[in-house]
Amino acid sequence: MSAHDPALAVLNEVFGYPAFRGPQAEIVDHVIRGKDALVLMPTGGGKSLCYQVPAIVRQRAGQGVTIVVSPLIALMHDQVGALEEAGVAATFLDSTQSFDEALAIERDLREERITVLYVAPERLTTSRFIGLLDMLYEHQKLSLFAIDEAHCVSQWGHDFRENYLALNVLHERYPQVPRIALTATADDLTRADIIARLQLEEARVFISSFDRPNIRYHVVEKVDARKQLLAFIKDEHAGDAGIVYCQSRKKVEDTAEWLGTQGVSALPYHAGLEAKLRQHTQDRFLREEGIVMVATIAFGMGIDKPDVRFVAHLDLPKNIEGYYQETGRAGRDGLASNAWMAYGLADVVNQRRMIDESPAHEDFKRNQRAKLDALLALAEAHDCRRVRLLDYFGEPSTPCGNCDNCISPPATWDATEAARKALSCIFRFHQHGGQQFGGGHLIDVLRGKTTDKVTQYGHTALSTFGIGADLSEVQWRAVLRQLIALGHLQTEGEYNTLELAESARAVLKGEVQLLLRQASEAVRSKGSSTNRGSKTKAAPIALDTAATQRYNALKAWRAEVAKEHNVPAYVVFHDAVLAEMADREPQTLADLRQISGVGEKKLEAYGMQILRALDEAAVG
Ligand code: ADP
Ligand code: ZN
Repeated sequence: MSAHDPALAVLNEVFGYPAFRGPQAEIVDHVIRGKDALVLMPTGGGKSLCYQVPAIVRQRAGQGVTIVVSPLIALMHDQVGALEEAGVAATFLDSTQSFDEALAIERDLREERITVLYVAPERLTTSRFIGLLDMLYEHQKLSLFAIDEAHCVSQWGHDFRENYLALNVLHERYPQVPRIALTATADDLTRADIIARLQLEEARVFISSFDRPNIRYHVVEKVDARKQLLAFIKDEHAGDAGIVYCQSRKKVEDTAEWLGTQGVSALPYHAGLEAKLRQHTQDRFLREEGIVMVATIAFGMGIDKPDVRFVAHLDLPKNIEGYYQETGRAGRDGLASNAWMAYGLADVVNQRRMIDESPAHEDFKRNQRAKLDALLALAEAHDCRRVRLLDYFGEPSTPCGNCDNCISPPATWDATEAARKALSCIFRFHQHGGQQFGGGHLIDVLRGKTTDKVTQYGHTALSTFGIGADLSEVQWRAVLRQLIALGHLQTEGEYNTLELAESARAVLKGEVQLLLRQASEAVRSKGSSTNRGSKTKAAPIALDTAATQRYNALKAWRAEVAKEHNVPAYVVFHDAVLAEMADREPQTLADLRQISGVGEKKLEAYGMQILRALDEAAVG
């Protein structure tokens, strides 16, 4: 692309960015030339610019308005807010507007005063709106359709929306208008479905790497999960915004309340809360700084907040797709972020049982079990987690240097012998009295503890009594978890009694080797090796004392502007942009314009205020 390239000019002038990222340049060029595109890009990859830049370029060339279909009202509002801040004529049509407001927007559309219009799918397919589109089409003022969160059209996907199906009308009715569909959902099935349902057979497919290099993955063994979580938040994320996922509504509420008593600003969110309260909670998360949202997976779709610094799982997600989606909500802004998960024996047992007890078809259950197994393998892995994650999505890679296993490779121990002892002990229970027991009792027998129960069942007489005294209880739990995760052991009934699976035979014969991670005390009580140790939120880049003061002054200034404009702070400027200002201390408007993220409109609107805030911070 040349310096006179209109797309690059828009990127620079309007958004204040010096260069396109990854495949953006190619996508933007393709769409500006009026061709269809399907864009598969991970969260935070920069999908919005793929249609916003073409929208502006095409509008300037007299080609009219871009219609963006988006499933979530909150998301539309923030996107429009951000575009307005950048000086782009953007607006939305949704159900919260009055009839008069809607009329005014329709008039602006007819008078070509709008560059980007966001609309919910149910609105788009009303006869009134179609009539408006017909009129624009007739006058060749319908520039582009962008279909955001395009996976919503797929029944396979995780957030199917009935009214996305009606979007094929766009192609049938307005064949001359190019379309760009975008999604962060990677799998082949969903992709094929999007193409078929939106009739995008002719579209060029752009697939980005699904790696999120700024996210650091950790999995810790559950000992006291809440305390481990608290230590992780306090050590690494004091004052940061984050999301904590729990499986049940009750656990969400309990955890949020407990974190609150420990000095963390935590709020609960789940589908059982009243809609108004949910909305309010979500708004607070978006608009205030440093809120920790404790939530079920009902929370997250379309959450566009760029500075979510961590996502923690207190319970195991259902599968790797879920894990990737949920952890992917961290670090959209590209700055260092953490994905942290506490994982233990009970998680494995619960997830297996949920599948077993669900009323679904056996085929479906088999599929779910296979997906769970893949996730368990990721959790138990002692090699690079990212390599495994990307491999699951069919993307080859090399060890990342930014996951727990890469940073401090876990010591492993050969648990083959221990596994054989455990399995044969269960076999002896059978022979002895035909009864089944749970993990706790099994470990007592293996370790040679004469509890009442051990005595009562005469288990001191078993040949396996005390043969595992050399291992700690924690080590035994790890062995059992691994055996269950790998499917050699099954749990049954209310008491989770243990039963040998078919494949246990091979382990008993010594045909299967089991390598386990060494659970060290340090690993179990700490989230990771880095420790910022500060009580307030750190700047995204290292700043000295004076620069930190400037950074804080800029944040205070930003908070006021955000409040005045009724938008989240990040819509005004991202943390990273403020940090760079604080670091480089621009003296003039021209200096300020050099900072990535400062476009012309923002320079004009805020430039003097920023220079003044920097000055005042210097004085003191
Ligand atoms: P997605 O929709 O793919 O999750 P966004 O469009 O929200 O991602 O972009 C993520 C972040 O990256 C946004 O804050 C955006 O401003 C920023 N960004 C996107 N493209 C660029 C670029 N070329 N240069 C700098 N920042 C960019
Ligand atoms: Zn790694």
